[in-house]
Amino acid sequence: MNASGYAASSATSALAPFSFERRALRSDDVLIDILFCGVCHTDLHLARNHGGFTIYPILPGHEIVGRVRQVGENVSRIKVGDVVGVGCMVDSCQYCQACRQGWEQDCAEGATFTYNSTDRHDGAVTFGGYSDSIVVRDRFVLSIPDGLDLAGAAPLMCAGVTTWSPLHRFNVGPQSKVAVIGLGGLGHMALKLAKAMGADVTLFTRSSGKEGDAFRLGADHVVLSSEARQMAAVTGRFDVIIDTVPYDHDVNPYMPTLKLEGVLVLVGYMGPLGTPVNAGSVVRGRRAISGSFIGGVLETQQMLDFCGQHGIVSDVEVIAIQHINEAYERMLKSDVKYRFVIDMASLKS
Ligand code: NAP
Ligand code: ZN
Ligand code: ZN
Repeated sequence: MNASGYAASSATSALAPFSFERRALRSDDVLIDILFCGVCHTDLHLARNHGGFTIYPILPGHEIVGRVRQVGENVSRIKVGDVVGVGCMVDSCQYCQACRQGWEQDCAEGATFTYNSTDRHDGAVTFGGYSDSIVVRDRFVLSIPDGLDLAGAAPLMCAGVTTWSPLHRFNVGPQSKVAVIGLGGLGHMALKLAKAMGADVTLFTRSSGKEGDAFRLGADHVVLSSEARQMAAVTGRFDVIIDTVPYDHDVNPYMPTLKLEGVLVLVGYMGPLGTPVNAGSVVRGRRAISGSFIGGVLETQQMLDFCGQHGIVSDVEVIAIQHINEAYERMLKSDVKYRFVIDMASLKS
């Protein structure tokens, strides 16, 4: 069926209107009319080929909320008219160990990602949520709890689960001291989620001027990472640090702020760290550097249900799709509070 959206044709070209075909529904597929789609920094990394594996044209978007228009003949869990979410994945093998454990994102055969990926059945390149509709395997369609603002719920599908997953894995609760590096899309969700889990929460930021927002979003303390005295004052403090910085950076200054057996979890940058990690900072203090990649389907639903119970959504700036290229430039300058979300009704105007 005909679909339209915004796509980039090369690493240096702007996103522009794009028409394409969505596949006819398979028996376990769901067709969703997209209402809102969040703008993740990963969309920008991939549109501009920062990782070197972009397939052009690329149509990004993996923070999708929409309404079900049609379901395949074997779909019973999801009904026409349901308000649903789709995150970073639309399929996986379902039988490897990772899939069976609920970590479909790390499927041994490679998950099928929402965009810039290859459909495991027909080999077609996947196109994401900067579009009017999407077809997704039913197991990868999430329920959006009643009562959540739908534009604000869209970023939960990536920024929400990516920060929820490590907070949950490392048992964050009222006894925990958590720090978050970087106040952007992921960072602001990490503040909100860690606070709702009961933790004492600190923001590390390189930007003075974000303090007021950080406190409103759930931080109990703010540390300017450029101020040596402020960094020294939090030596030995944290159980868990969630590092959301999207580019190469030096993690060494953060390591002494971990407690005995504390862990720094990389969720932002995925390339080689230019400044080698001082091994002494993990050997001494039994500390760890870990990482985390989005989250599985079941834990995504658990995160959404938690957000429903606690009334948590993202702070968003809703934009028309015609402003997506400006939004990318502003995201690069950290000039967004704290997630752009595209109102897909704008596609028709
Ligand atoms: P974002 O909204 O642009 O926020 C990133 C924040 O990091 C900025 O607001 C800024 O905070 C800080 N920052 C930016 N550039 C920096 C630099 N050069 N050095 C130090 N700090 C910097 O981005 P996002 O959407 O949250 O995404 C963050 C990263 O996570 C991206 O690389 C994205 O691809 C990745 N990601 C990973 C996963 C996963 O599964 N692991 C999922 C989603 C996204 P301050 O101004 O407060 O310092
Ligand atoms: Zn994302
Ligand atoms: Zn698998």
